[in-house]
Amino acid sequence: MEEKPVAEKITIGHVHMSGCTGCLVSLADNYEGLFTLLDNYADLNYCLTLADVRDIPKMDVALVEGSVCINDHHSVEDIKKARENATIVVALGSCAAYGNITRFARGGQWNQPQHEAYVPIGDLINVDLHLPGCPPSKEAIRNVAVMAYLLLRGTDEQKELAAAYLKPLMDLAQRGNEACGCDLIYDVINQGICMGCGTCAAACPVRAITIEGGKPNVDRDLCIKCGACYAQCPRSFFNFDVMNQFEAISEAIDAAMGKGDE
Ligand code: SF4
Ligand code: SF4
Repeated sequence: MEEKPVAEKITIGHVHMSGCTGCLVSLADNYEGLFTLLDNYADLNYCLTLADVRDIPKMDVALVEGSVCINDHHSVEDIKKARENATIVVALGSCAAYGNITRFARGGQWNQPQHEAYVPIGDLINVDLHLPGCPPSKEAIRNVAVMAYLLLRGTDEQKELAAAYLKPLMDLAQRGNEACGCDLIYDVINQGICMGCGTCAAACPVRAITIEGGKPNVDRDLCIKCGACYAQCPRSFFNFDVMNQFEAISEAIDAAMGKGDE
């Protein structure tokens, strides 16, 4: 891989709202892949867990983890600042995208019993991409980082490829900020397009989905409202642009990361 001058890197920030840091751990799970990213493509210019930068700076990509407690004015100010300062805002993980487990927050716990209301970041700011998952896979985060680099710094051809890759995640952000296993019921099974492949059951982090009679059945008492099942379902938003360019996209990512570094 040819070496790239620092000036060509994009800047990425990790903005921690009401999250658990598991999404950041998933990024770090890329191991050497993360170093390749940081050496060649991106400077991590904000991340309270890893670097001593106190205020949210200007950045090309904000990876925002966690939902927002609207009873905490610092959090509300932070998410607005992240939007102002970032070219691309990514809702990293299901808490940021959909609220996830914080949908069940009701307040009443010491020592901030008034902290009772949590919303996905898209309820307060415009979000460019949803990257759901609890946590999102390390590969998905890596791919988005590489594709953001190609989108902002690449040749016209690379920009086109990156735009095709990122489009379904942009569409997901446009679709809304609510998620539940019920999405499979309303938007897949009820539409007559479920093929019983079982991907949703494999994607569910809490095993709330079982395949019964060839179709998914959702235990809604187990569901933590992460949205992974709908996002992973091949019948939710089958994207021909991505599928048709699958090889080119895989090659671009392999070339960026150096083959065999997984
Ligand atoms: S992933 Fe989609 S198509 Fe496959 S079983 Fe689940 S709902 Fe049906
Ligand atoms: S059924 Fe599972 S994968 Fe789907 S939203 Fe609920 S917890 Fe997430």
